[in-house]
Amino acid sequence: MNELLLVASSDAVEETVLSWQDRALCAQTDPEAFFPEKGGSTREAKRVCVGCDVRAECLEYALEHDERFGIWGGLSERERRKLRRRAV
Ligand code: SF4
Repeated sequence: MNELLLVASSDAVEETVLSWQDRALCAQTDPEAFFPEKGGSTREAKRVCVGCDVRAECLEYALEHDERFGIWGGLSERERRKLRRRAV
């Protein structure tokens, strides 16, 4: 692969990563709902996630990057841990 193609493909990857974040429904809401205090309610955040077009991309990103805190793709930290264990 030549240098120009490498640059073009890395731009495409970056664009893909950014494009789902641009469509994140949580960006239009209260971000604190997605990072509740320990024991706090996750209901409001999960309700927003249900209507989000990029839920799958968001969850995939969180699993790939081992995001430990907050609601991602409609799942809490504990739910993502369970999902990861089931996938092993
Ligand atoms: S799935 Fe939820 S956390 Fe992920 S981008 Fe959509 S609203 Fe935000």
